[in-house]
Amino acid sequence: MLRRSVRSVSAVTFSACMVVSIAGAGVAQSQSLESQSTAAFGSLQQAGSSLGSLEDLLPGGKAPKNIIYMVGDGMGFNHVANTNLFESGQSRYAVEGEADGEALEEAGGEAVQVYEGDEWQQSSMSTYPVDSGYDPVKAWNDNDYINQNVTDSAAAGTAMATGQKTLNGMIGVDAEGNELENTNERALSIGKSAGVVSSVPFNHATPAAWGAHNSDRNALHDMADEMIDSDLNVIFGAGHPDFDDNAAGRDAKYEYLSEEGQDLLESGDSGFEYFDDSETFADLAAGNVSSDRYFGLAPVATTLQQNRDGESVVPGDVPANDVTDLPTMSTAALNVLGQDEDGFQVMIEGGAIDWTGHANESARNVEETQDFNAAVEAVNVWVEKNSNWDETLVIVTADHETGYLSGEDQGDGWKALHGPTGQLPSHQWYSGNHTNQLVPVFVRGAGADAVIAAADKQDPVRGSYIDNTTIAKLTLENWWTAEGK
Ligand SMILES: [Zn+2]
Repeated sequence: MLRRSVRSVSAVTFSACMVVSIAGAGVAQSQSLESQSTAAFGSLQQAGSSLGSLEDLLPGGKAPKNIIYMVGDGMGFNHVANTNLFESGQSRYAVEGEADGEALEEAGGEAVQVYEGDEWQQSSMSTYPVDSGYDPVKAWNDNDYINQNVTDSAAAGTAMATGQKTLNGMIGVDAEGNELENTNERALSIGKSAGVVSSVPFNHATPAAWGAHNSDRNALHDMADEMIDSDLNVIFGAGHPDFDDNAAGRDAKYEYLSEEGQDLLESGDSGFEYFDDSETFADLAAGNVSSDRYFGLAPVATTLQQNRDGESVVPGDVPANDVTDLPTMSTAALNVLGQDEDGFQVMIEGGAIDWTGHANESARNVEETQDFNAAVEAVNVWVEKNSNWDETLVIVTADHETGYLSGEDQGDGWKALHGPTGQLPSHQWYSGNHTNQLVPVFVRGAGADAVIAAADKQDPVRGSYIDNTTIAKLTLENWWTAEGK
């Protein structure tokens, strides 16, 4: 079942229902919208509710001014569980039993992370690419089903950024290679600011989906050039040519950024304030902002921490690289973008959760998820200090699950992760690739009710769910239409 927890139950539940019924009525019946809304408003007032404006009753609800789209790359339900169990011995996502969707259910449990708290609403999301699908019954009745026809981060990122599905390997273009508008571009076109932040290279698939268009996700130099040439206000990520994965200097390797691209950034002629030191991230996070456009390259090769030397048995046992972290980068980005009185859209990615999944690294999976969770906390603090939940929407989700993380020895059925606080839970990785499971979605703030109301598909175990195109469609078609702000 869908879990909802809201302060003002009557108003919010009602508004969510109205979104469904009005959206369901479609464009052809739009003339009845006003009378529906007026009638609805009257009955709301009778009910003693304090709904603010008619705007709340329009399709999509009240448009958020700011959208903060946070993606834990590869972070499935059991990835959240892995960290939650380690931190508190609690997880609400446990599913255990025979492979029979009708008989299975989530065990439920206490909130651990900020995004599981009462002020947030939760749904789930399908992640498949354009030539695949998700069958919720098959998914729970055959535990090999989720290994098939999986998305990659390029197709998933494109769907989340543009509202349209594409083929694996493709960034910001449809299956025929036509360029698609993403929500960062829409934000810029209606006068808002926009940016991307990642703990992996700034032009890896997920941030590239909000900043580039290319039929080949491996065309890294081309996508870097496109992003440097774009109107984005913030590009923060790893991928530095001059540093290795331990944040030590090395002879330059132009894997993500070309030599020409690096020269352009360093010349000061790119249009961005360029920096590549951790101190400047901290400075911006502290509020010392003097420009509205920054390109910040973290001084590491591929990931802030995940690819550093050593083998971790428990989280934190191998000394961390002395570089910036995702919470600092996130606060820094919000301080830059928040200068725009018209608002902003930003994608913040915990990119290396996925890398731990591919490598089946259990301890570093917790480390990376903790860094992402800390970024959500930092965002939460920023919103409450510098904005508010009536104007800002925060989304916390994943682009797909990675590694098929589940309970030990599940055989033909399903086993849950379990274990006491302070220990890595009992678990097993069943893949080195992505899976086609639903992923969790947590939302809070302006537009959150519309996201939840759009969850019109049903999974027998996870409940109602949205698709990975849903939020971008709401953004592009309802909230931030090209004509208005
Ligand atoms: Zn991956």
